[in-house]
Amino acid sequence: MDLLIKNGIVVNAEGRCAADVAVSDGKIIKVGQNILPGAMTEEVDASGLLVLPGAVDVHTHFELSFGDIFHTADDFYSGTRAAACGGVTTVIDFVTPENNESLIAAFNKRNYFAESKVCIDYGLHMGFSEVNDKLLDEMQEIVNTGVPSFKVFTTYAFKLNDDELKRVFMNAKKLNALVMVHAEDHEALEAAKAEFIKDGKTDAWHHYLSRPEAVEAKAVKKVIELAMETGVKLYIVHLACAEGLAAVEQAQAEGYPIYAETCPQYLNFTSDVFKRPDGRNFVCSPPMKGIESRDALWDSVTGCDRGTISPTYFGINTVATDHCPFRSTDKDRGKDDFTMIPNGVMGVENLYPYMLSEANRGRISFERAVELCSSNPAVIFGCSPAKGLIAQGADADILIYDPGKEFTVSQKNMHSDIDYTIWEGTKFKGYPVRTYSRGLLVYKDGEFTGKAGHGRFIRRFM
Ligand SMILES: [Zn+2]
Repeated sequence: MDLLIKNGIVVNAEGRCAADVAVSDGKIIKVGQNILPGAMTEEVDASGLLVLPGAVDVHTHFELSFGDIFHTADDFYSGTRAAACGGVTTVIDFVTPENNESLIAAFNKRNYFAESKVCIDYGLHMGFSEVNDKLLDEMQEIVNTGVPSFKVFTTYAFKLNDDELKRVFMNAKKLNALVMVHAEDHEALEAAKAEFIKDGKTDAWHHYLSRPEAVEAKAVKKVIELAMETGVKLYIVHLACAEGLAAVEQAQAEGYPIYAETCPQYLNFTSDVFKRPDGRNFVCSPPMKGIESRDALWDSVTGCDRGTISPTYFGINTVATDHCPFRSTDKDRGKDDFTMIPNGVMGVENLYPYMLSEANRGRISFERAVELCSSNPAVIFGCSPAKGLIAQGADADILIYDPGKEFTVSQKNMHSDIDYTIWEGTKFKGYPVRTYSRGLLVYKDGEFTGKAGHGRFIRRFM
């Protein structure tokens, strides 16, 4: 036995108990009362602390470039360093083939860049920016490689049309794979953008007005219809509007395998952030919406008014980050034209502390926070039972959390390479004190203690 975490309260999605956790060779070998250490065992006293499974953030964009102009602030090293310091022990990032690359060639290239830098375990989703027979044929091979989730868009230059979406859905259904969709109505938002720019309405607030609630809801409803027709497992990424959420819940109630993710930025902020003088720094798509949408998302997260249906697979199923920050100098390129602002906000270090703080304040249970941030994403994306719970046989991906610690977020105490944060000044009740990735201490009391290359690629199967 390498490590024994004693006297803590172990919290899984299903419940909590006072227990010791024994770790050997990166695995949890026992959870129980009064476990005795071996001669070489390091003992950690977790009296008064919570012992939780590390978060599984299934939506990050590290080391992403748009052409030669914009590069995200975080690469696979600084991104996973920040993740570890926020109690995230698994991330799933994206790869998108370019210039006629095969899916497997694109995967190999991305994996090569990631593997020497990652500090925690990671997986990859496969993105589609076009659809043809060759790419569809290659889906089987990439699923066999451990990448059973595909990402498509209804907007941006790489959007797919309805026919292309349907072909991907049908093929994914055959392979028992999951399709993730970024849903915003392209025609509506492009028309609004052109109109605003023509009228000289160029500030960040008009980024929100060009893609408001209705623009997202329309696309969400369309992709749900396509998913119902094809029977594919659908996962709506970064859901941010009440009307889209209602459509998701309706489809779920009818028994369709449809999942929804939201992000901390949609739960804690509204479109008001775009009115700030530095509002362009927070431009992301979909944008944060009005208070009605934020409240509807929170209602779903708390699982209230759910009647007899379990909240586990109803309404919002996961909270992930869409971590994709661009430096303020890059955001500044759009100060006179919101359409030039690179899209994305930060969150990988804030996700779990935020949700656990809300639990600590009594808004949700700690179990529900674990379910949304760790066990549900692990199950939905095929990394369970190694990830997402504290149990014998699982990976020793463990967060030790002090519910009594007060913490105020500042760019200065974060571990990302981004030069500002939307979370500046936010106060959390309770904070992580230690994170272990497969038994290795990667974070302790405000300091990163991990190392590049420790993380392993997770082959996922559904
Ligand atoms: Zn994203």
